[in-house]
Amino acid sequence: MNKKTIMIATGNANKVKEFKEMLEGRGYEVLSLKDLDESIEIVEDGDTFASNAIKKAQSVVDALGIMAIADDSGLEIDAWDKKPGVQSARFLGHDTPYSYKNQVILERMQNEENRTCRYVCAIAICDVNQEPIVFEDCVEGSIVKEIRGENGFGYDPIFYYEPFGKTMAEMSKEEKHSISHRGKAVKKLEAYLEDKKM
Ligand code: IMP
Repeated sequence: MNKKTIMIATGNANKVKEFKEMLEGRGYEVLSLKDLDESIEIVEDGDTFASNAIKKAQSVVDALGIMAIADDSGLEIDAWDKKPGVQSARFLGHDTPYSYKNQVILERMQNEENRTCRYVCAIAICDVNQEPIVFEDCVEGSIVKEIRGENGFGYDPIFYYEPFGKTMAEMSKEEKHSISHRGKAVKKLEAYLEDKKM
């Protein structure tokens, strides 16, 4: 593996796409678990984004003996005590379409006045014989009353970002990456990689 290759410990195609959009233009080759011949078991049972990100990256280090990066992210709805949070992917079932999940959230939020929410992203770097390093960031928003937009993925059509007057699903990818939880955490990761000349 050359110095500029980054292994992202995820099989989530949407996340891989976003990491590629953000990092490949800066000279990194981004590989994911889907590029491997073997499958690596990752148990995601932590109760914080950071601990889950570390578990994912460390599983790859333990299996392959190479540096790996992983992210764990999710949607926190304040009126729901920050749920679904670390359970965001599994909320209403892992394979349930987001069109349905988003509809259910809007229905359950129908009479709720407190609509504030945020996306959180923790990115961990793990390597052989090294302590894990975590970069975390978030973006504040609110839950819309009607689904809007077709870009992005997951909860983007219900996540409203006030400064742009758009949901995440109404933004171009450049707009989303400039303000998103993942975009901001990736900037911290890049600064670290640059500082370490990696
Ligand atoms: P995990 O980090 O793979 O456990 O899953 C994170 C989950 O949080 C995703 O499957 C989505 O449900 C949600 N999520 C995280 N980031 C985003 C985003 O940028 N847009 C929409 N949904 C997101």
